[in-house]
Amino acid sequence: MTTTQFSSEVRGQYRAKGYAAANAESPLAPITVPRRDPGEHDVQIEILFCGICHSDLHTVRSEWSVPTVYPCIPGHEIVGRITKVGSAVTKFKPGDIAAVGCMVDSDGDCEECQAGLEQYCPHMTLTYNSPDVHLGGVTYGGYSESIVVKDHFVLRVPSNLNLAGVAPLLCAGITTYSPMRHWSVTKGKKVGVVGLGGLGHMAVKIAHALGAHVIVFTTSPNKKTDALRLGADEVIISRNTDQMRKHEGSFDFILDAVSAEHDINSYLRLLRRDGNMTLIGAPGKPHAVAAFSLILKRRSLSGSNIGGIAETQEMLDFCGKNNITADVEVIPIEKVNEAYERLSHADVKYRFSIDMTSLK
Ligand code: NAP
Ligand code: ZN
Repeated sequence: MTTTQFSSEVRGQYRAKGYAAANAESPLAPITVPRRDPGEHDVQIEILFCGICHSDLHTVRSEWSVPTVYPCIPGHEIVGRITKVGSAVTKFKPGDIAAVGCMVDSDGDCEECQAGLEQYCPHMTLTYNSPDVHLGGVTYGGYSESIVVKDHFVLRVPSNLNLAGVAPLLCAGITTYSPMRHWSVTKGKKVGVVGLGGLGHMAVKIAHALGAHVIVFTTSPNKKTDALRLGADEVIISRNTDQMRKHEGSFDFILDAVSAEHDINSYLRLLRRDGNMTLIGAPGKPHAVAAFSLILKRRSLSGSNIGGIAETQEMLDFCGKNNITADVEVIPIEKVNEAYERLSHADVKYRFSIDMTSLK
């Protein structure tokens, strides 16, 4: 089904409460926005928890090249209870616990969608700040009491996991799982994780569960004990050049999850021959890459965007089997601005998860 087919549909709508930023400088504040009534392929979810991703902060502050449309309701780490399903939905029923991540639609028939890589579809619709073909304007994310999403983009949640800690899996979990699977992180591989934030701490847990030897690079010496508890085998304070030099030419794979500008050459030099470093952190300003950091050992530098829907389900099932959730600080929605302030200073252990029932 193509996205343009949707635009001709006539839909009813209802009002949902949320928290939005009115411009790039304003704090988030209560708002009500329209949501479509569920169509035949839609699932309506009462949101229970929504994680706070640094991408929410980048978007609210309009730090990326795609301009933010205001008001902006962020949130793409959503877990909740299904309240209604359309007549063609077979995978879910009212009362089920379900989750939604960074995408809510794609064209379904391009090469990327056919390969199960909806995140690379040229017509992919993000959960927030993407054109909304149903109601006009832009999509509104998970800092809200409810959301309506096409069934293909709704995920099943393993029943053994704590829901506040599941929410962050929908972005931080899949964004770290996908590149580690792509670059064959397995037992015996030496894997680096740069930046122990929301994404970084999920990368540590997942790499450890995949059997890798995991080394965390952090700028925060006070996170060392936590890094080891989360599954790291070693911790390097990245501002210590002597510690860094000892590991030159030794890593198979490094995942860079840093949200701000930093020197990536000092990590590229740590890769062995044919080693790869993948960027998932997305600072607003470009990195400088020294050609020799790559040339000398045929190293490669790549990027990775979240993960496809099938792989997201695979990740959730993997986390269910291995009892993995995010380490969360659960907050009421009234504390979201305080949480943003702390997130901007790398001061969160290790993900904020908003209890959305606090919105009522
Ligand atoms: P986060 O929780 O704020 O973590 C970022 C970590 O980066 C911090 O905890 C800190 O770790 C490190 N850091 C921060 N400022 C730094 C600086 N100036 N120099 C060096 N290190 C610094 O953020 P997040 O939610 O994990 O997101 C991380 C990045 O990934 C963001 O840019 C986000 O937009 C992006 N992202 C990308 C995708 C994708 O699909 N590729 C998906 C989601 C998010 P230490 O204290 O350990 O140094
Ligand atoms: Zn995210």
